[in-house]
Amino acid sequence: MISILQALSNENIGKSVSVRGWVYRSRSVGKKSFLVIRDSTGIIQAVAEEPNLTPEDFKLASSLTVESSLEVTGTVKEDKRAPGERELLISSLKVYCRNDSFPVAKDKSEDFLLDIRHLWLRSREFTSMLKIRDTVFRSFNDYFYSRGYYQVQGPMMVSTATEGGSTLFKVPFFGQEVNLTQSSQFYLETMIFSLEKVFTVAPSFRAEKSRTWRHLTEYWHAEGEAAWYGNEEMMKEEEGMMDYIISEVTKRNAEDLERAGRDTKKLSSMKSPYQRIPYSKIIDLANEIGLTLKYGDDLGMEEERAVTKRFEKPIFVTDFPVQLKSFYHRPNPENPETVLCHDLLAPEGYGEIIGGGERIWELEVLRRKIRDFGMNEEDYYWYVDLRKYGSIPHSGFGLGLDRLVTWICGLDTIKNAIPFPRTIRRTKP
Ligand code: ATP
Ligand code: MG
Repeated sequence: MISILQALSNENIGKSVSVRGWVYRSRSVGKKSFLVIRDSTGIIQAVAEEPNLTPEDFKLASSLTVESSLEVTGTVKEDKRAPGERELLISSLKVYCRNDSFPVAKDKSEDFLLDIRHLWLRSREFTSMLKIRDTVFRSFNDYFYSRGYYQVQGPMMVSTATEGGSTLFKVPFFGQEVNLTQSSQFYLETMIFSLEKVFTVAPSFRAEKSRTWRHLTEYWHAEGEAAWYGNEEMMKEEEGMMDYIISEVTKRNAEDLERAGRDTKKLSSMKSPYQRIPYSKIIDLANEIGLTLKYGDDLGMEEERAVTKRFEKPIFVTDFPVQLKSFYHRPNPENPETVLCHDLLAPEGYGEIIGGGERIWELEVLRRKIRDFGMNEEDYYWYVDLRKYGSIPHSGFGLGLDRLVTWICGLDTIKNAIPFPRTIRRTKP
């Protein structure tokens, strides 16, 4: 048994091979049946013709519907008209499951297709997306290991909020309530005192009440935290990570990107360094291109969309006003109205994929900000403790992996960048 990709290789021309997989397309013309078979590696056209196989097998081959599973043996032959320029002349076949008609079809509604996402995932488009997603997750890990980081895990059930109360999921917990985590950042911060440089890849949960093309209620969050790093050093680390992930995806997934309609050359050309643009300049730029924004307004999805359409590469937006960012961001000592932070915005209208920056490490500054933000210090006693005992400067970031996949694949919604999207209206399959 070999994979379809292997069956297509030159060395198998003229040889008899066996492959197994699923019927991708089928049609019969006179005394010939064409079965395009797929496996995880590709597709091959297999031809059933009566003198080559028994009348029973020929009948069986001609009756197969899309997504039936089978094993075929046959001789590989060159054929310029076939996909991959090879054809398999079937000599025998074994069918594992002969289907009724497969429910996935082009004319179906989006909701229906989401209901049968467990079957829709077999499409070539999803297969390609899943392969690209695998490279993104794999290369994220590899990059941080190569940079001396340790992988750690925080809890998913927590009693704090990192990003404000409005998107908290509360779940019953033995007669009390617990929150699903919005980010593992605070727990990563605890572990830099043991390991100095740490990362995690875990779900984060946010009760996003509106339906948007870039928000899920459960998403995959890749976070890093590094002792002694300043904001600029963290941005450089992220540039290294982005370059590495993009180079791996373009190397390993060229065909998948092509299927997604993504220009690999264009993606490869987006090498760091990225521009660092202060928030105030982005406000000016937004006004120049016809939006009406004033200093202090948040950059929402639509604003980021309009602004990033102007850029060919990702950009860092820095120096946000204090009130626009969560309480833990460190005020810039040279301009305390702003914080030492960065958002990484993907170009071509995609917008934010990373939020990061320096964390407050001075005890009194943190206490004051917890008060200013109307929060209760006792709830964060352990986070405050980190500033009492051996506190150090440090920085970190949070990357939305599903958003990164959305952008890399050039998709128009984040729902197609994850196998089973969770949104305000969807918890199945
Ligand atoms: P946004 O303004 O788009 O809601 P955010 O400022 O809430 O993003 P952060 O709290 O900084 O985002 O989270 C870090 C990263 O996690 C973001 O840059 C983004 O890539 C990702 N992210 C945040 N919320 C979601 C979500 N609901 N679904 C998918 N990814 C998300
Ligand atoms: Mg948000």
